[in-house]
Amino acid sequence: MNDNALMLRAENRITYLVVAAGRGSRAGEGLPKQYRSLGSRAVLSHTLSALHASAPEAAIQVVIHPDDKDLYNDCLTNLEPQALLRMQAPVFGGATRQESVRLGLEALAKLTPPEIVLIHDAARPFVDSDIVERAIKAAQTYGASAPGVVLTDTVKQVNSELMVVATPERQFLRAVQTPQAFQFPVILDAHRKAADNHREYTDDAMIAEFAGHGVHLFLGDIKNFKLTTPEDFERAMEIINRQTYADLPDIRTGQGYDVHAFEPGDRVWLGGVEIPHSFKLAGHSDADVLMHAITDAILGAIAEGDIGAHFPPSDARWKGAESKIFLSHACQRVRERGGIIAHIDATIICEAPKIGPHRDRIRHTLAALMALDVDRVAIKATTTEGLGFTGRKEGIAALAMATIRLPSQ
Ligand code: MG
Repeated sequence: MNDNALMLRAENRITYLVVAAGRGSRAGEGLPKQYRSLGSRAVLSHTLSALHASAPEAAIQVVIHPDDKDLYNDCLTNLEPQALLRMQAPVFGGATRQESVRLGLEALAKLTPPEIVLIHDAARPFVDSDIVERAIKAAQTYGASAPGVVLTDTVKQVNSELMVVATPERQFLRAVQTPQAFQFPVILDAHRKAADNHREYTDDAMIAEFAGHGVHLFLGDIKNFKLTTPEDFERAMEIINRQTYADLPDIRTGQGYDVHAFEPGDRVWLGGVEIPHSFKLAGHSDADVLMHAITDAILGAIAEGDIGAHFPPSDARWKGAESKIFLSHACQRVRERGGIIAHIDATIICEAPKIGPHRDRIRHTLAALMALDVDRVAIKATTTEGLGFTGRKEGIAALAMATIRLPSQ
């Protein structure tokens, strides 16, 4: 066997089978919950990233609903390139979770079957390398395994009249999570048997039990919870925000200032919004004074010069250019540094036109351009009480502050 073949074997040793074919929208918003957004990406996208980070050598097979092809492809656009390399083409699921898992396993059986398969819920994005490591070890040792969490509440068994019929001893009870980990032939065989016998179970561990295989429970983690209710989504968002901020501790601010003079015309551009006026602003580009100030503030926050250094006025390419090109470039530079823009605050200084009626459109336009929530974009306006060049209505000035967060150096 040559080196390449050896590597291929190592890569195929472990495969994640991610079950994402469910229609569950109990958490609201209509979309199946695995495709609902959690911050800037869908739940499934978070889950796939976490799985990849936990075992980068593992292949990832997702089982999806045929109606969700576009939603699934959208999830992939947010994945790290290294994770994308591990993704197998998706398989379509069936009417039940059990059938979806079986169809996924059958698809893997047709390729090069893995030694170990980790079957995971699409709506558990907080899986980590500790759980995955325990799962792989348990599958190697016991053939069939699942993560179990110790219960803190006493559990009662009740009858249909809600009368307690039993109080099982808590020390022998576990709440079971995913990834459930199996030697591939064990779980494939168990699923085939369950299907042949028309038996329906709620998790894969039960299917292994049905097939007569002992199932070991390894230590789960309460942080690895499944997103089901709106409250679960709120809790998940808090965790993701906290992670984002912890990963980007280097907070910087930058300032920008720009002025453009009026010349004959009938409209001005401010923050990407066209506003009718009795003059236009003179300039090499579209003279969007507000966008120029914001662009300079962002470039200032990353200490990468100013707008003139990136887009020299002497360069004919930028004559009449839309200023959103400049702003997008500055945002791109922040992204390339691994950072985010946390907040923009800007002030437009002029006697006219009136900014108030256009303020919200300007905020929304800028927020969309910078891929920010609109509550992270503040636009204010003031006159100078008739004083100075703005007071004499000779032009418009704009001031901006940008707050950005970068990874630690
Ligand atoms: Mg300018």
